[in-house]
Amino acid sequence: MKACAYFLRAVRLRCPTCGKSPVFVPWHSLRCLRDWFTPLDGCPRCGYAYERETGYFLLAIWAVNYGLGSLLGLAIYLALEMFLSLSLPVLLFWVIAPVVVFNLLFARHAKAFFLALDHYFDPHGRDDAGDGDARAPEGIPPETAPPSAKSDPAVK
Ligand SMILES: [Zn+2]
Repeated sequence: MKACAYFLRAVRLRCPTCGKSPVFVPWHSLRCLRDWFTPLDGCPRCGYAYERETGYFLLAIWAVNYGLGSLLGLAIYLALEMFLSLSLPVLLFWVIAPVVVFNLLFARHAKAFFLALDHYFDPHGRDDAGDGDARAPEGIPPETAPPSAKSDPAVK
């Protein structure tokens, strides 16, 4: 149930903890391409730090985004090779072009899915120190913990 909620929040690009605030700048407020790929520092509502440490989203890009892009490219290649006999340049274009577009469009969701997955297996609470190392209080799910309990890791 919890995993399903986290997954749906990732689909909507929302904070994995509260599900209300966006993880990224909305598309209509983008100022540059970097805004498309870079998550916000944290949730303004619940204080959950999106990027816990430098390089945190490396696995999201390499495993989730490029991994799914590779599977998509492989599926397109096998389908084209099986049903059509295209020349090599045409075949390469129809395999590579959709993968590049997919990777650009899916980058945000790859990070949101990784964030949700990480939050499910290793939940963290509010990060007042900004070091990305705030553990969620034990026994209290981060969604229901009062703000004072979330900010103080010693409170149980
Ligand atoms: Zn939040």
